[in-house]
Amino acid sequence: MELNYKFGRKITEEIKKGRQMHEEMEGKVNIPVMLEPTTWPDSLFKILYTSYLAVSGLRERGKGREIQMYGSIGGYRLSGRIDQLETEGGKVVISDDKTRSDPSPPSDAQILTNKVQMFMYRKMLDDARSGEYTLQNFSRAYQIDKMQLSEQFKRQLRATGVGDGLSTLKSVADAYFDELKGIPEPSARLRVRYIDKMTGDEIRIYSFDYNPEEAQGIIKHVLQFWNGERESEPVKEGEKWKCNHCKFFGEQCKVWWPQGKL
Ligand code: SF4
Repeated sequence: MELNYKFGRKITEEIKKGRQMHEEMEGKVNIPVMLEPTTWPDSLFKILYTSYLAVSGLRERGKGREIQMYGSIGGYRLSGRIDQLETEGGKVVISDDKTRSDPSPPSDAQILTNKVQMFMYRKMLDDARSGEYTLQNFSRAYQIDKMQLSEQFKRQLRATGVGDGLSTLKSVADAYFDELKGIPEPSARLRVRYIDKMTGDEIRIYSFDYNPEEAQGIIKHVLQFWNGERESEPVKEGEKWKCNHCKFFGEQCKVWWPQGKL
């Protein structure tokens, strides 16, 4: 992760294919939004607006997809996109879809990574519902008061009718946080669905319960790195296979490179 920040992330064909599948699934649930952002504030508006519609969809139709979440841990910005929120038995279940290039079940290491991600989604959802993380926190963190939408984008908002009542970043952010606050209580159950990216077939569903103490322990460990109290950690020896797919292997990172090969 540290090297990704320093040298940039590579968008591979596999990532592109995964994104395409996510867009297809989103199109089946959410109302399509025809807006073409040209600047970062425009894009942020579109993200907030589509997420707002998706949360409204959850209340109205019991399901919403691709909901962008914002939050904070230890003063650091936290964000992520929940693949799906669905009402089951009166509670909201968070689920995520992970595409895989082969039909084999995921390893324990992959499941653990996905579990941590789900814990963070749940924390952000809890904080948005309880008022722990509000429009004010978001505005301060992203400085939206200083942002301006482009004239071209404003014309699009007027032409599509979106601009009626939601014509600024502040108004759309306000609507989004309001909508999130009103959703039913989240279920303790979290769900990750592993999908074969070639066929679209479901490989396995992994369900587990949210554990706030475990989440707190993970956050504490992560913050030690961000606060400069420890070095970043390479993958464990048993997970060296990950290095085969890592663009830093043998270049910026030589942790598992002593013999020139794995
Ligand atoms: S080569 Fe391996 S240990 Fe090094 S950054 Fe990449 S995944 Fe981590």
